Amino acid sequence: MSEKQKTISKSVSISGQGLHTGTQGIMTFRPAPAYHGIKFRRTDIEGQPIIEAHINNVVSTERGTTIGLNGTKIYTIEHVMAAISGMGIDNLLIELDMEEIPIKDGSSKYFVEAIEKAGRTEQDAEKEYIEIEETVVFEIPEKKVKIEIVPADEFSVTVLIDFDSRVLGEQIARLTKIEDFKLKIASCRTFVFLHELEFLLKNNLIKGGDLNNAIVFVNRKVSQEELDRLADLFNKPRVKVKKEGILNNLELYFENEPARHKLLDVIGDLSLLGKPIKGHITAYRPGHSVNTQFAKIIHNHQYKLEYDKRTAI
Ligand SMILES: [Zn+2]
Repeated sequence: MSEKQKTISKSVSISGQGLHTGTQGIMTFRPAPAYHGIKFRRTDIEGQPIIEAHINNVVSTERGTTIGLNGTKIYTIEHVMAAISGMGIDNLLIELDMEEIPIKDGSSKYFVEAIEKAGRTEQDAEKEYIEIEETVVFEIPEKKVKIEIVPADEFSVTVLIDFDSRVLGEQIARLTKIEDFKLKIASCRTFVFLHELEFLLKNNLIKGGDLNNAIVFVNRKVSQEELDRLADLFNKPRVKVKKEGILNNLELYFENEPARHKLLDVIGDLSLLGKPIKGHITAYRPGHSVNTQFAKIIHNHQYKLEYDKRTAI
């Protein structure tokens, strides 16, 4: 049986702070008509420019996926895009009065909850898919990253990570049907290593960060003095390191939460193809740069296949 396109039943808002830019604002999901796709509107800018959530609009993948058009940007879209894709929403207008998506707890949980609160409505149009007709592989051997997709009737993702660290080594995560996204993937938070965090803080690259936005892995010995300095930076009374090498008293939701979060990012980044995908994806050590480069390759590949079909005699 064929599926219908979906939007949300009513508008819903979420407030919060951007992790990298530190700006505070409100994001509102609004229903959109069939074939509209996912679009963002910056309501804080004159003319309220609209940017389509499309791979061709990606302008940066440093510390998150950023889209932009004619100089207007929207930072860190990957977790909200994963939530929209994971909840099977095809059409949505997202209004934003700031330049970055609120980070919340570094997962997709709050966005999924907002979509559930708004409700989902089936539309009078067939859902469209990207159907993979042949295997596509993208590899950067010197970085030990590889991502591939093989044709299939359903969507599935397998992610393998290896940070070659005592506190975060090899992990695998798998999603075999998108309907499981909410329960198995949505709550999985982003993570960072302490040494990266110090660099980001020193360079003022996480203006909106506090210790609730990410899991912080500690892969070396830290003195109490350093921990106190971090506590000061984050306005916390005290910061501790757990035995397992995780900062503060944070409990992981799943043993492989980091791999599951990387899977969440893959879903968010590949949703920039504009339609749900039918195919099996396997990603080794993925990241925003490789994910979006891969999405562009799929996009161009699909375009070429279409072109060949149209021009075939
Ligand atoms: Zn992420």
